[in-house]
Amino acid sequence: MVHSHDHDACIDNAVEEAARLCAERGSRFTDLRRRILIMIWQGHKAVKAYDLLDQLANEGGSAKPPTVYRALDFLMDEGLVHKIESLNAYIGCPHPGGDHVSQFLICDVCETVDEVTSAGLNKAVAKASAEKSFSIKRQTLELHGVCAACSKKKQAA
Ligand SMILES: [Zn+2]
Ligand SMILES: [Zn+2]
Ligand SMILES: [Zn+2]
Repeated sequence: MVHSHDHDACIDNAVEEAARLCAERGSRFTDLRRRILIMIWQGHKAVKAYDLLDQLANEGGSAKPPTVYRALDFLMDEGLVHKIESLNAYIGCPHPGGDHVSQFLICDVCETVDEVTSAGLNKAVAKASAEKSFSIKRQTLELHGVCAACSKKKQAA
């Protein structure tokens, strides 16, 4: 599904949602933050910070690395993007606005990252940690493998 679709709609939707949420929360959705969000949403692949910096520099922007990292922190705090720890890269959240703990399916062939939220899995994790009186501050579940489209391609080849 993420391989053939009207991606402009994904970008428009992400930017619209971001603007709406920021307005609602009184957070400032500056031009740089918007630009970086759009750059992260260039596709459904995780984007590294230095790629963002390169691209901004190519566009003749004057944003310094700390400014870009602050913008990324802002986007993460607002739940608009997620960090993929195993790739040290960022991905746009397709359903920002609510607190959610997600799992990430990362294709090692085409590098597409798909975000899924498994209520059952989250419940099981909460239960297992509660049994140990452990309070979770942060959890990351990143699953590496091959996506459906890439497995199909491989079979056809
Ligand atoms: Zn898309
Ligand atoms: Zn998300
Ligand atoms: Zn793939």
